Amino acid sequence: MPDRRVADNSSCTALLAALSYTDSPIRTCLKAELMSKRLIPSLALLALMPMASTSAADVGVSQVVLGVHGGTGLPKKEMTPELEKALRAGLDRALAAGYEKLQTAGATSLDAVEAAIRVLEDSPHFNAGKGAVFTHEGRNELDASIMEGKTKRAGAVAGVTIIKNPITSARAVMEKSKHVLLMGRGAELFATQAGLEIVDPTYFWTEPRWKQIQEVWKKEGRAPHDPPRAGSTNEPANAWGTRQLGTVGAVALDQAGNLAAGTSTGGMNNKMSGRVGDSPIIGAGTYADNEACAVSATGHGEYFIRYVVAHDIAALVKYKGLSVEVAAGEVVKGKLKAAGGEGGVIVLDAKGNFAMSYNSEGLYRGYVTGGGERRVFLYSE
Ligand code: ASP
Repeated sequence: MPDRRVADNSSCTALLAALSYTDSPIRTCLKAELMSKRLIPSLALLALMPMASTSAADVGVSQVVLGVHGGTGLPKKEMTPELEKALRAGLDRALAAGYEKLQTAGATSLDAVEAAIRVLEDSPHFNAGKGAVFTHEGRNELDASIMEGKTKRAGAVAGVTIIKNPITSARAVMEKSKHVLLMGRGAELFATQAGLEIVDPTYFWTEPRWKQIQEVWKKEGRAPHDPPRAGSTNEPANAWGTRQLGTVGAVALDQAGNLAAGTSTGGMNNKMSGRVGDSPIIGAGTYADNEACAVSATGHGEYFIRYVVAHDIAALVKYKGLSVEVAAGEVVKGKLKAAGGEGGVIVLDAKGNFAMSYNSEGLYRGYVTGGGERRVFLYSE
């Protein structure tokens, strides 16, 4: 079992409870942090915050080499056993793919992040790649970004419609262009010239997502639309309901001690054509700095952009010396929640301390330790 650390990213309840265990090693360690005064302002803030339910799984863990998320997802009451199984299997496959990379000689944290995210992009169950949501015009416009903690190099694409794996094209922008962010047609041309896999836009059409957008249009009083293409993903038509925040992301730490982060999304259901969320914005949806942490976010992108969430967490770690758990909690459960921004983050530092913080009902998420132990969670469990 990984070592459970006390600086609970999701609730001060567990943290305060831990304080009451007289002989707890946790208490000793926490006391040391409190004595150093680093945690006191954070604790005071946490104590004032409205908290989502907590669980052991929400507590930060150590010795982690790779973390993934699959978005905040569905309200629990809409979850079906079939979808739950598919989501857990997808997260687990992503962790296995990333971990395999990390075990390969010479492979980097970037390789692991890309490999894990590609698995999630290829699944119809997550709002990224194949399973992307539809825009208000009934198209799929995808965003992604990736960042390397050692060099601060970064790459991103926005509003792409024919690139099968946007995370790979984001990496190509980082490694093969002199730019950080390419959008639309330029990004697609670049990906084509780089030899990446190009698909027809109808590749991204899935029946559940189509039903999902139809429901929104119906509520808006729009005339029913014909699907752009007939097809089926063997999913029940109502698998996702009308609300979906299912962006995917990964953070990784390689054997050389380098961090990387990446995020990929179809954006928000029924978004305006041309709308760009936080996922391809370095500092908002993705950030990596070896001296701080790697962060991948998911949630209501407009808030994550305005609150520069990923960088804000990294800055708290770097300049205030907060642990990843406390920094993530301060931003996600503090500032963001107070502003009305729903979502969550996964955060990993260069020592393998990992936090999963969210102010929504759930966050599809998981991690793998250096020893290969994989864990996945959907809600508070
Ligand atoms: N953050 C994404 C966006 O706003 C959506 C999500 O995370 O589900 O585009």
